Amino acid sequence: MLRFFKKIAPWWLLVVGVLVATGVVWQAARLTYDVALESIVKTGEERLTLYSGTLREALSRYAYLPYVLARNGAVQELLDSDASSEQVNLYLEGLNREAGSDALYVMDATGNTVAASNWRQPVSYIGQNYGYRPYFIDAKAGREGRFFAIGATTGQPGFFMSYPVHRSGRFLGVVVAKVDLDPLQDDWHQGGEIVMVSDANGVLFLSSRKDWKYTTLTPLSAKQRAHINAGRQYSDQTLKLFPLQTVKTIDSNRSIVRDGKIRYLLLSRQLVGQGWKLFHVAPLAPVRERAEAVALIGTASALLILALGMYARERRQKQLSRHKAREAEAIKAVNLRLQEEVEEHCRTEHALRNTQAELVQNSKLAALGQMAAGIVHELNQPIAAIRTHSASGRLLLDRHEEEKARESFSSVTRITDHMASITAQLKTFAYKTPRHCEPVLVQDCLTAALGMTETLLAEVGVVVEIQQPAEPVMISGDRNRLEQVLVNLVRNGVDAMRETERRLLNLSISIDRELVEIVLSDSGSGIEEENLSELFNPFFTTKEVGKGLGLGLSISYRIITDFGGTIRAMNNHGAGASFVVRLPTLLIQTTGATETAGVKR
Ligand code: ADP
Repeated sequence: MLRFFKKIAPWWLLVVGVLVATGVVWQAARLTYDVALESIVKTGEERLTLYSGTLREALSRYAYLPYVLARNGAVQELLDSDASSEQVNLYLEGLNREAGSDALYVMDATGNTVAASNWRQPVSYIGQNYGYRPYFIDAKAGREGRFFAIGATTGQPGFFMSYPVHRSGRFLGVVVAKVDLDPLQDDWHQGGEIVMVSDANGVLFLSSRKDWKYTTLTPLSAKQRAHINAGRQYSDQTLKLFPLQTVKTIDSNRSIVRDGKIRYLLLSRQLVGQGWKLFHVAPLAPVRERAEAVALIGTASALLILALGMYARERRQKQLSRHKAREAEAIKAVNLRLQEEVEEHCRTEHALRNTQAELVQNSKLAALGQMAAGIVHELNQPIAAIRTHSASGRLLLDRHEEEKARESFSSVTRITDHMASITAQLKTFAYKTPRHCEPVLVQDCLTAALGMTETLLAEVGVVVEIQQPAEPVMISGDRNRLEQVLVNLVRNGVDAMRETERRLLNLSISIDRELVEIVLSDSGSGIEEENLSELFNPFFTTKEVGKGLGLGLSISYRIITDFGGTIRAMNNHGAGASFVVRLPTLLIQTTGATETAGVKR
């Protein structure tokens, strides 16, 4: 059981649960005990009220008898003269029968019984002397006698009530009425009640529990014993100590006593008159049983609640762990799917990379092929020309036509110059050009570039428009290289306008803040959208083999970026294309007579 609980709950929760349950059960049992005790006390008090009433009523019912007898003429006559007792005996017998008392009798001044209601019975009081009885002594002293005692003659216990008989102030004797209290005691017994009455010495002389009768609540002193023996009150009864021990004294009239393991509630009430005390004894077993039942039910309920709580907790935990397991399963599945996707992506990426590598390789080969074709075409013609010119030069020398031979060899020189210019262009890509920067006047470069392309412009019939500021626009760079860029751009523009009707080349120079902007706009064929991003790549050309190497723009790009500027191409809204070059302005600062130049980037 404990292992089961341990499995489903932490030990501290179990301990707390058990402690709380024990506390609650203990309190409930205590409360039940107190309530039941209170109820039994209340019942006992009610019984005491009832029984004290019946006892008082039983005694007072006969109280008048001694008084009436003491006043009776025949009784007085009997005691005052030697008259026969027969008449009085008959009278007492009749009266006793009618009144319901146990016995009526008359004693003379010495205590000798001279007449009695039981005169006919074998055990008659007549002739007996009861002068030692306290009720005689009290009556002789002029007081009413009240006394409980075991009958000295009959051995029957009874309550004796006496009254003195006087005539003309003389004490003649005592009349006594004996009342049997056994019926009362039997009633209590039959009612299932334990009711007891003690006298002034604490001797229980009436008790519905026979074994407790004639015991003393407290040990008797020697004086008390002597007094009891003098009046022969309890005949030869040993008067042992009351067998119950006090466990707890609630107050002077309430205590808890025990007889072995059996516990009782002892309630008492003082009776007016003889110093008697009435006791009601109630067993506490029902009270304890009720508390035990509550404790048992409480414990069972607590255990049940605890078990149900633990069970519910275990179920919840199981549900939680099932839920977690499901979640973990779902996460695992998602992870697996992600992993697969990642692997798939990796595979795709790998394939793409392969394809890209292949493409790069192919495009490199294609570029190489294109370049090779271009170079071959560009150089083949001059080589063939050189061969022809040098052969004809040799022939002319053989014929001694030196002048013509010199012209032929001059052509060879010119052609090799042209070849050198081609290879010089290619050198731009072979290694980084050392940076040589100087102030350059942009307007001059533009004029020089137009001068270099003058023949071509005229040949194609291009109209040139120029917008430029009046003041000098300076940049930091290399004049020749900037001219080379502008020549390239002008040539491309012209090439694009060869097939168009309108052939207008617009050139503009402007300064926007710290930047110089040079725009070359033509009215040519324009650039295919898909080629815009390719233009500046080396060996990209749309021109026929031999007509273009695809190096012009890539060289221009290299030069402009070397100057710290930018170059870009775009199509015009109407027709043709525009190339925009932006370069940092070189600010001229005038300090007195000297001019210094500095670049602001
Ligand atoms: P190439 O002139 O030898 O072809 P470039 O690098 O100078 O090499 O030019 C690359 C390509 O850019 C040209 O083949 C052409 O298709 C395109 N291009 C350059 N300038 C223009 C322009 N003004 N209009 C239309 N296309 C142009």
